[in-house]
Amino acid sequence: MEEYISISTLNDFIFCPYSIYLHNVYMGAEEELVHATPQTQGKAAHTAIDEKTYSSRKDEITSLSVYSNELGIIGKIDLYKGKEKLLIERKYQLKTIYQGQLYQLWAQYFCMKEMGYEIEKLAFYAISTNTSYPIAIPTEENKTELRSFILRFKHFDPAQALQVNINKCIHCIYCNLCDKTDTENVYT
Ligand code: SF4
Repeated sequence: MEEYISISTLNDFIFCPYSIYLHNVYMGAEEELVHATPQTQGKAAHTAIDEKTYSSRKDEITSLSVYSNELGIIGKIDLYKGKEKLLIERKYQLKTIYQGQLYQLWAQYFCMKEMGYEIEKLAFYAISTNTSYPIAIPTEENKTELRSFILRFKHFDPAQALQVNINKCIHCIYCNLCDKTDTENVYT
């Protein structure tokens, strides 16, 4: 049976494939041990969504589980505003929109389209600055790009040499637990 890939894992993979291994190893560990500041803030940002307390508007759907049989992915959306046909992904802070975050939103979009939802607009929303960042609806070309990225994920060989990028490591929440680097992250 075909295994479905979690949409959030795609973002981790693009950041550093080894972080997926560490995420799985420390998944059951105490939160304070693993969670660095950005993740704690991000988690708090999602609490209202995850507990479905964000909105009582009937046309708004929060924390909906989504999937795509075509792409072989599953995940959860943050917020869908039915009246506006708008899909939103909230982040606590958003200085730059990284490719992995974009792939996450594209993946959510293609899942929802396959499930029959109408979406005309996409956006990221930064809670810390109360700012919306509209994102273009992905094209067929973007879908092909996403599909080949998913294939790269599926065929990744963990035994291959890891390209350690210190600039990423210092912003990695697993940095202090990672055996690939001696550096410390900026959150300690
Ligand atoms: S500390 Fe560096 S090598 Fe280790 S998981 Fe994070 S980004 Fe990857």
